[in-house]
Amino acid sequence: MAIIDGKAHAAAIRQEVKTQAASGANAHLVVVLVGEDPASKVYIRGKEKACAEVGFKSTLISMPETSTQEEVLAVIEKLNKDPDVTGILVQQPFPAHLDKNKIVSFVAPEKDVDCLGPCNVGLAAMGQGKLLQCTPSGVIGLLERENIEIAGKHAVVIGRSDIVGKPLALMLLAKDATVTICHSRTKNLAEVCRRADILVAAVGRARLVTADFVKPGAVVIDVGMNRNEKKLCGDVDYDAVKDIASYITPVPGGVGPMTIATLMQNCLRAWEMQK
Ligand code: NAP
Repeated sequence: MAIIDGKAHAAAIRQEVKTQAASGANAHLVVVLVGEDPASKVYIRGKEKACAEVGFKSTLISMPETSTQEEVLAVIEKLNKDPDVTGILVQQPFPAHLDKNKIVSFVAPEKDVDCLGPCNVGLAAMGQGKLLQCTPSGVIGLLERENIEIAGKHAVVIGRSDIVGKPLALMLLAKDATVTICHSRTKNLAEVCRRADILVAAVGRARLVTADFVKPGAVVIDVGMNRNEKKLCGDVDYDAVKDIASYITPVPGGVGPMTIATLMQNCLRAWEMQK
């Protein structure tokens, strides 16, 4: 079994972005945080750190939990119009009273570095996206950088969210995998997963994927980030699965760093599109 070192791959990508940005890319990412979600604050710090490392400017706009939809949209509108801002990311999850779809749709497509708005999602689904959804693109990056063949393989993705499962399934399909998408209503989940050559868990349930989900020699990618007793753990029971899989991603240190590295690639592309 090989452990896929997401930290190392992500560092290599950040270095590539830094080298490309050195020729004058003055990208500026603005992150909007509504509320006080502690996990969001950790993720935002990671994004700020990555921006500093590759030479991009980053700004955090913190808005109170009680902000209205109109107030959030007004901030985004100002950022959409500001020529100094080349990337906008509204950190999720949002407080429940806000309309998530309306907010992500409001970000100008050329500044939508999270690639969540309908324009970029549509282009990505058509295989014409310049900005790519960060986490699924990070998963594809891990597979490709490890020289794991995707074409012709049976990929099973557990999870169908707009942010991970669905776009990842489309990306795997575009790479010629045969794709099965599982979700909370899937029957005989373990049996379906056991058919996978590439198994991706993007669920948010700690250690859902046990040894009986994994075919010997399968590639197992764990997107899950679950905070149990303050310790971060994935959707895969790592200790039970590691000796069955041919490749496996750890949590932390697998997919997570790739998400931020892909965000840096998107920030560079967004700047290029606007310069
Ligand atoms: P989400 O929106 O809650 O979606 C979870 C998906 O899992 C849904 O499609 C749901 O099915 C499915 N599901 C729930 N329980 C299930 C079960 N028992 N069996 C099979 N499927 C089940 O979550 P998300 O935003 O995609 O995130 C998933 C996980 O990835 C979370 O732990 C999150 O923290 C993590 N994440 C990590 C990164 C990273 O950078 N590493 C980035 C984003 C997310 P239904 O559709 O039927 O409800």
